[in-house]
Amino acid sequence: MKSDIEIAQEAVMLPIKEVAQNIGLTEDDIELYGKYKAKISNEYYEKIKGNEDGKLILVTAINPTPAGEGKTTVTVGLGEAFGRLNKKAMIALREPSLGPCFGIKGGAAGGGYAQVVPMEDLNLHFTGDFHAITSANNLLAAMLDNSIQQGNELNIDPNQVVWKRCVDINDRVLRNIVVGLGRKVDGVVREDHFVITVASEIMAILCLANDYADLKERLGKIIVAYTYDGEPVTAKDIKAVGSMAVLLKDAMKPNLIQTLEHTPALVHGGPFANIAHGCNSVKATKTALKMADYVITEAGFGADLGAEKFLDIKCRKAGLKPDCVVLVATVRALKYNGGVSKDELSNENVEALAKGIVNLEKHIENLQQFGVPVVVTLNRFVTDTEAEYEFIKNFCEERGCEFALAEVWAKGGEGGVALAQKVIDTIENKPSNYKPLYPDNMSIKEKIETVATKIYGAEGVTYSPEAEKAIANIEKLGYGDYPVCMAKTQYSLSDDKTKLGRPTGFTINIREVYISAGAGFVVAITGSIMTMPGLSKKPAAYGIDLTDDGKIEGLF
Ligand code: ADP
Ligand code: MG
Repeated sequence: MKSDIEIAQEAVMLPIKEVAQNIGLTEDDIELYGKYKAKISNEYYEKIKGNEDGKLILVTAINPTPAGEGKTTVTVGLGEAFGRLNKKAMIALREPSLGPCFGIKGGAAGGGYAQVVPMEDLNLHFTGDFHAITSANNLLAAMLDNSIQQGNELNIDPNQVVWKRCVDINDRVLRNIVVGLGRKVDGVVREDHFVITVASEIMAILCLANDYADLKERLGKIIVAYTYDGEPVTAKDIKAVGSMAVLLKDAMKPNLIQTLEHTPALVHGGPFANIAHGCNSVKATKTALKMADYVITEAGFGADLGAEKFLDIKCRKAGLKPDCVVLVATVRALKYNGGVSKDELSNENVEALAKGIVNLEKHIENLQQFGVPVVVTLNRFVTDTEAEYEFIKNFCEERGCEFALAEVWAKGGEGGVALAQKVIDTIENKPSNYKPLYPDNMSIKEKIETVATKIYGAEGVTYSPEAEKAIANIEKLGYGDYPVCMAKTQYSLSDDKTKLGRPTGFTINIREVYISAGAGFVVAITGSIMTMPGLSKKPAAYGIDLTDDGKIEGLF
């Protein structure tokens, strides 16, 4: 079997103009970024915004192994499979971050014969959206420090600056730093912090904003610091909104690329799901819904993180109503959840599977709480055995849950036809009664406790003294009706990555809480999760290279 990058490099792509034409876009509706990438113009959305919406399908997964369980792969393959059934479908994905590309997990173009291309461009600099987000974030940081330096008219307390700088690289030494060292002209000395770009509030804002007016309104609300009197200071107070909006102008437009089978894909925005809200942009999802009869989108990591935030934050805020959820499971992740070590996941082990399948069971129950019909799919690996497959199939069917095998990694769209058919049947026969898990008017603590007990299966929640204080302050500032964006390890339903399967009897520990007033949610940080990841002992970067004739090797 060829590697992902070999398959991607051999692909014969259509010029993106043709992909666009096939879905009714003229050359005036797109802005070309080379031959194979384009952005969709704002004018085009204005033209189609009266169209009826297509069906919205969310792809999510059980708790993963560190390698990922194939949500992007299944999303891409499912989109291609709809094409094979002559249905008008579009895919809506997130843009990859350089952190995982050079870290452990790799890129985010899908895998095998279910990939979006050009894979290297997408995984590296793509159309520059992350550059724009990083620049806007850091411009705000620079203007804030400058405001303190130039007489501090806003009375900002340097010890209460909450805005962090960002970079799209796993770089742990930037988590806690000191800035402003040197002479008086070098700035005011204070402790500072970096987050990875995909955890920046600017990323969340870009993904949740409907248009430029909404973008600017949200940017203006960002709280960057507090005064000596404890009053919030916003990006508007810093006078940074216009400049940030200018930097984000083109980044706001969805990017169009294609799958290996030329299915159109909008790939736009890329917040992580463990430390941010984990969904592609509202703009891209809404555009796709106006253009196609079926839109397949992915939310990051397991359904406890990405799907919960898709349903409780993105859909609630953007007025979206998903029609069906596809829950991806793999034999290897089920065995991992059953306690098998990483290097033994390829050996048949029905006993471990039976032990780990409680994880799948919990995710099925969780998704049913949102009122959306669920189809479970097994993303097939060559090492899976017939006994393992039968076990999972029976498990789902005994619970009255739709099930289909996905063989898209090996076969592309053809390997997803059974799943696509199951999804269509489900949408036609099982109405979706989507509702978020909790109402806006619950207290912040009640919201956190609802997610912790109903989704994670926790017995209760504990709060650090800092978190307690922050929650009281956020409610006092008038943000109590915002949804919560939970930051938690992706490996466990609990906040402890070693508790696999379906843990019970645990509590969720809230370490830190802060307001993202522009994004429109309250972030609750659990356990020891970090908003700036580090590299591993042997990062993927060791294996990545450029040949003398300009070919990229080792990306995956
Ligand atoms: P996720 O979106 O859930 O994080 P991805 O779709 O990005 O997962 O897949 C993670 C990795 O696993 C990719 O490198 C992909 O090529 C690989 N992969 C996915 N499905 C399969 C499969 N069925 N067989 C082998 N490798 C796979
Ligand atoms: Mg993915």
